[in-house]
Amino acid sequence: MKQDAQIKMLLAENEELRHRLQETDETLEAIRTGRIDAVVVSGPDKAEVYTLSGADKAYRILFETMNEGASIVGTDGTIFFCNTRLAAMLRVPLETIIGASVKAFVAPDDNALIETILTRGVNEPQKVEVRLRGQAGHNVPALISTSPFSFEESTSICMIITDLTDRKQAEEALQQTLDELTRSNRDLEEFAHIASHDLQEPLRNVSTCLQILEKDYKDKLGPDADQLIKYAVDAIPRMKALIYNLLAYARVTGIGTPSASVNCEQIFEKTLLTLGPAIDESSAVVTHDPLPAVYADATQLLQVFQNLTSNAIKFRGDQPPKVHISAEKSDSEWVFSVSDNGIGMESHHLEKIFKIFYRLHGSTQFEGSGVGLAIVKKIIDTHKGRIWVESEPGKGSTFYFTIPTKEGNA
Ligand code: ADP
Repeated sequence: MKQDAQIKMLLAENEELRHRLQETDETLEAIRTGRIDAVVVSGPDKAEVYTLSGADKAYRILFETMNEGASIVGTDGTIFFCNTRLAAMLRVPLETIIGASVKAFVAPDDNALIETILTRGVNEPQKVEVRLRGQAGHNVPALISTSPFSFEESTSICMIITDLTDRKQAEEALQQTLDELTRSNRDLEEFAHIASHDLQEPLRNVSTCLQILEKDYKDKLGPDADQLIKYAVDAIPRMKALIYNLLAYARVTGIGTPSASVNCEQIFEKTLLTLGPAIDESSAVVTHDPLPAVYADATQLLQVFQNLTSNAIKFRGDQPPKVHISAEKSDSEWVFSVSDNGIGMESHHLEKIFKIFYRLHGSTQFEGSGVGLAIVKKIIDTHKGRIWVESEPGKGSTFYFTIPTKEGNA
């Protein structure tokens, strides 16, 4: 009898222990999965509350409130976890997503990409752009960035999903503008080329006729007619120069962009040779610092040196021109400068002088057509460089232009 009572007591104790063990297991599971934020433990005097709002809770809140989609996916593609942002992105209820395969939410064409992610993603981080497919065929361009996710001896894949809709739309708009700009630039170049080329022929005819008129009818049509014929004949070389320069401007295209390393010391020597007569006539002194070899189109670079140096001589003041060319290397480019002691210019002209046909010094005082600097700018643009000028009236000007180094060009 006594033995029976003992067995009964031990069984009751056993049941009690089993019950408490089950309770502990459930509590631990709830803590681990984040379903509870606090536990109440009865102490010797009173019950005590232990909150779990530590780092773990912060992570859980972060995951839920972050502005990116987040999910944890098994290697077979089963979605174990998904935050509300991702559900909103797909426009699919959370409970439908959890437990489903990630492949169900990707456009069929991109399924191979997902396969790759699932295979490689357990070992190394992956980044891939895909089209997500949500409810009713709702498509979302997205970037999936993954990292292996080890938890309790099993490895799965953590995915952060960024919605690329806005970026894609902006990129498309930019590309459209670029295409339009390229097309209109090409049309303009073609137009300038055809116009200037086709103008040469009638101009030659007009020129010949005027010369005959001048030669055969001088003193026969009266002084007024003689004067008018003279004006017309004088305008011919100006017209020819304009057409020639317009043609030169149209001919600068991106085709001649950097192909080889060009020795600027040689370019400088050629510039001196070409401008020899102007240098002699004005007693100009043209000097230079050591000049580098740069990655550029040699013919175009020579044009830049010539145009800037001839302007430096042309727009001189009372003193004989002094022109100095130098070059300094910065991070990813060479900065060239061409400085003079000429008449300079007011600050409000500094940007406009690079526009085609823009001239600020009267046409009677200095010859020219206002195309030289536009050509220089176009050449520098095609080399992905920049050009600007610093100047003050009466104090000379310094033109700066940059040519990217080979690395800077890459
Ligand atoms: P052009 O020399 O045929 O007039 P450019 O395009 O070469 O045309 O130059 C545009 C204008 O910029 C010039 O007419 C002149 O007024 C101004 N300019 C250019 N270079 C200099 C300079 N070194 N000093 C002062 N003014 C200059």
